Amino acid sequence: MPELRRDPVIGRWVIIATDRAKRPDQFGAAVVEKEALAPGEKCPFCEGNESMTPPEIYAVRKPGTRPNSPGWEVRVIPSISPLLRIEENLDRHGHGMYDLMNARGAHEIVVDTPAHLTEWQLTKDHIVKSVNVILDRVRDLEKDPGIKYVLVFKNYGKAAGGSHIMHSRVQLIGTPVNLKRVKEELAGAKAYYDYKERCVFCDIIRQELAAQKRVMAESKDFIAIMPFASRFPFETWLLPKEHSCDFYKMDRGKAADFAELSRMIFGKIRAVIGSFPFNFVLHTAPFRRDAGKKGYWETIERDYHWHFEMLPILTRVAGFEWGSGFYINPLLPEDACKAAREAQVKA
Ligand SMILES: [Zn+2]
Ligand SMILES: [Zn+2]
Ligand SMILES: [Zn+2]
Repeated sequence: MPELRRDPVIGRWVIIATDRAKRPDQFGAAVVEKEALAPGEKCPFCEGNESMTPPEIYAVRKPGTRPNSPGWEVRVIPSISPLLRIEENLDRHGHGMYDLMNARGAHEIVVDTPAHLTEWQLTKDHIVKSVNVILDRVRDLEKDPGIKYVLVFKNYGKAAGGSHIMHSRVQLIGTPVNLKRVKEELAGAKAYYDYKERCVFCDIIRQELAAQKRVMAESKDFIAIMPFASRFPFETWLLPKEHSCDFYKMDRGKAADFAELSRMIFGKIRAVIGSFPFNFVLHTAPFRRDAGKKGYWETIERDYHWHFEMLPILTRVAGFEWGSGFYINPLLPEDACKAAREAQVKA
């Protein structure tokens, strides 16, 4: 069984998932991953292959069709190799100076389309349906008191940790602890709010709209910005213009606008650099079940602002980055933004 271990120096939790791992001698460069389905290999996410996955958790289905059979539009299944499992009891304990807990949580796959399409081939309609299903799933996981955060993400391409099965899908991981990366943002947003009494993300949106140097695209309700201190070439953040700390409270009526803008940012960057590996990650406020908590919880509804980060994996993180915590970005975000904004997307 996987377990979570906490680094006693900086507090970061690591998932030790030995049942997914290869033998130590298989970690070398000799492991060559397949990039596409092998001849005769069937895709477990395609319509008609429902028996290849664990039973579905949820699906948007045509009337009269049965679970785990064809006739769906978006299908949610447990991960085939889950990092965390809902059935586990949360058991946090100490071992000398170390803290550890078992891997209780949720790991779900939202299959965006019944057809074997990649992320690049999704239509606006696919994305709208998928976003609405994700909202439903996060709202459902919020009811589980053992889950503190739901990380929503997409991996595309081998360099970004994506699988060779290129069927478009989103992963949801509900964790029993808050995430280090999100905590850093919460602490930073609170510090800014304490000083200025404004949301730092709202201030970024205001300044970027005035400057027009790093606004890659915008719609009625959302804005796509290449951040001032981008870590990666073409890194793009997608934020709601209206202040909100909780993604799962997003109005369904905004899903079409969101889908259109997200298709546009991917399409424009692709028009510049061709298809690229990426990670697409949601940052949102953790679930808050005991009101009146101190620390970054006090002003969280006013100081934190949910957003997606799209991180193209075009450069390699090497010794200096790992050792220092710095990232090296070889491209100015202003230049990346100009190229992408002006790119024509073929219909
Ligand atoms: Zn498929
Ligand atoms: Zn805000
Ligand atoms: Zn973020």
